Amino acid sequence: MALRNALQRVHPKWPKRNMLQWGGVLAVGVAAVGLRSITSAGIPGSFRVVTPPNYTSIVNTLKAFSRPRSFSAITIPSTSMAITPPQPPPEWTHSAEDVVKLTKECIASHRAVEDKIGALPPSDCTYESVFVSSRPTDDIIFFMISSPQLALEAAETEFESITEPLSFYQNVSPSKALRDASTDADGLVRDYNVESSMRLDVFQAKLAAEKNIKSSGLWEKLSSEEQRLIDKMILEGKRAGLGLPEAERNTLTKLQKELSQVCLEFDKNFNEENVNIDGGIFFWLILPQGVVSFTKEDLDGVPADVISGYTKRTEGSTEVYDVTFKTPDIFPVFKFATRPETRQKAYEGHESRLKINVPLVEKFLGLRREIAKVLKYPTWADYRTEPKMVKTGQGVVDFLDDLEAKLKPVGLKDRETLLGLKKKEHEERGLPFDGNLYIWDYRYYDRKFIETSLELDDMLVKEYFPVSVVVPAIMQIYQSLLGVRFETINGSTWHPDVQQFSVWEKDATDASGFIGYCYLDLFPRESKYSHAAVWPILSGYTKADGKRSYPLAAMVANLAKSTPDKPALMRHDDVVTFFHEMGHVFHGLLSQTKFAKFHGTKVARDFVEAPSQMLENWCWEPEVLTKMSSHYQTQQALSPALIDKIIKSRYVNVGLFYLRQVFFAKFDIKVHTDQEAEDYTLLWNNLREKISLVKSEKPCPGQGSFGHISGGYDAGYYGYTYSLVFASDMYSTVFKGGPLDPARGKLYRDKILKYGGSREELDSLEDFLGRPPNSDAFLKELFGTEATVSASL
Ligand SMILES: [Zn+2]
Repeated sequence: MALRNALQRVHPKWPKRNMLQWGGVLAVGVAAVGLRSITSAGIPGSFRVVTPPNYTSIVNTLKAFSRPRSFSAITIPSTSMAITPPQPPPEWTHSAEDVVKLTKECIASHRAVEDKIGALPPSDCTYESVFVSSRPTDDIIFFMISSPQLALEAAETEFESITEPLSFYQNVSPSKALRDASTDADGLVRDYNVESSMRLDVFQAKLAAEKNIKSSGLWEKLSSEEQRLIDKMILEGKRAGLGLPEAERNTLTKLQKELSQVCLEFDKNFNEENVNIDGGIFFWLILPQGVVSFTKEDLDGVPADVISGYTKRTEGSTEVYDVTFKTPDIFPVFKFATRPETRQKAYEGHESRLKINVPLVEKFLGLRREIAKVLKYPTWADYRTEPKMVKTGQGVVDFLDDLEAKLKPVGLKDRETLLGLKKKEHEERGLPFDGNLYIWDYRYYDRKFIETSLELDDMLVKEYFPVSVVVPAIMQIYQSLLGVRFETINGSTWHPDVQQFSVWEKDATDASGFIGYCYLDLFPRESKYSHAAVWPILSGYTKADGKRSYPLAAMVANLAKSTPDKPALMRHDDVVTFFHEMGHVFHGLLSQTKFAKFHGTKVARDFVEAPSQMLENWCWEPEVLTKMSSHYQTQQALSPALIDKIIKSRYVNVGLFYLRQVFFAKFDIKVHTDQEAEDYTLLWNNLREKISLVKSEKPCPGQGSFGHISGGYDAGYYGYTYSLVFASDMYSTVFKGGPLDPARGKLYRDKILKYGGSREELDSLEDFLGRPPNSDAFLKELFGTEATVSASL
């Protein structure tokens, strides 16, 4: 396969214990930046832009929910532009027509390259003619006109650098036309990707070139990264089934095209999840969809400032509040609503919010089973794990079984604790108690437990984390730790809210110290990607003339809005998320590989989260917490006592938390390992009850919102826990004694970030740690003692 599956975002961080991840991973992404401003009722920032002046009364109503432009209060530590970057930032001026037209031209150019290479006689297949061209590739025009001169690696790099920004618009553009065009372009790229990956002529050219390279003695002279490139490109062909007879290859092409369309549809439903308008002026005529409605009494216990952000309307003679399924709206209900029936209704609505995706799940799982069979892999999981660190589906099952067995006793104990609280409360309030812990009880009693045992008040902690203080503080920490500096620039972007930076080596005095571009799109808008994630839009690489092409990484998030009485505040979890996502940004900036194919986060999928998971640890270090906090009224940092409580809360009820992760991972691996379809709604609910130890009543189709299984992370959810093992090892071995020490930051840059995927991840780990990785630190972290038996890796 020559091309990646369109733009691969780096996934939102793995959910933390205080964020319920009912139902899934994109849901987890919501949780990740769980801030109140991400509600369809509460994003009038964009409404104001589109509302014509004669609708003043409606605007006034909406102003009650208006978000002050809180972003203007955020000043990212940066210097003003002093040196001109050696590469200008890209323009973001495409029209909808441009997006589709350019994508089509780009596909045609790439096809021309493959036509030329596929037609080479075997004797002419060489390193330069097939794999890596020696001609410099500078820009789009060169690619469009001269592309047939390129070899595969350069053509692939050019293709990505043109199509990835075009595919990105679908997540961030305020224009529906542009978003739709971008989605269409993404579909074209996915289809072409399938076509390209099935080219037998190109595969045969690769094999011939490899043979010629080895017989001529050139192989030994190639660098390990160059050898790796050849190995990977040939493996891609083998995994695409190019060793199969023609009829089977044709079947495969058909199945893969169908699969990518179904997955695209599944993903699209996520982005449109709460959209009830399209940015047009008639938004107020359409009733909100994707909400669950409650009376004021139903919402007993939910903080007043949260309720004031809900849309209030009259139903008959009753006033009701519409609560959207966005995390900042719905999660306070899970966490604070005292009435169990309110939490249950909220949970069942939330869990079922993407039931539209249920038939799509069945469809793509069936297609994957067929594809694995054609490719002669025992299961889809075996196919998917082959290029990863874990290598086989059975390796995943073993890892999860082992982890579940270790966690179960801890989880059962946690459940008893929470049930004790529930029993007491139900007795006090005269409510029946049936001895069960339900899924809608978990977050509520988990919070109560933390409050009673630790006296830790989330809302109080939040007061110490104003967005305008935390975001710059985090940026400052990264700049100092990794020896870089940000300079503000003002070029074109996809939206005026986006902040742009050129990133430089700390001591750069000329253009040679340029690292790349970082874009931060931090605030909610209608129809914007509603979670938090990082897109590595451009990869870095060395061009054929020896000059560098520089990367661009963009963070898309949905930070808090201010309320009339308080500035925008972040929960501690949100702080952790921001820190995590910035970790991906720096992975995308500080990699220094020769080939774009190995740049930054293009590492094995079961390793990609490890660096960011490691960096989450900073948010649990007293020294760092002090630096990042400043009470919005007193400007005091968090007190040592409060910091102590936050740190203690990290592993409270850790058994139940990790068992939930094991549930997601086991569902994912089971549906990708079984040979037959089944009722996935029942499987989802049964596995949850058995593994994560919480009951539910009505089986809800939560698999419809389990975003990971659609594409990219399928048969890969285990990776979050798996990579956490490496994250813990890296942190405790290198950083624990000095998390802000630039010398350790440099080691991290030089041994992990720099190499990206250009060598085996295990090699990078060993180089960084000074020994092979193990799970001791992870288990010690979970259980507080040295592990006697390491989890299988
Ligand atoms: Zn992540």
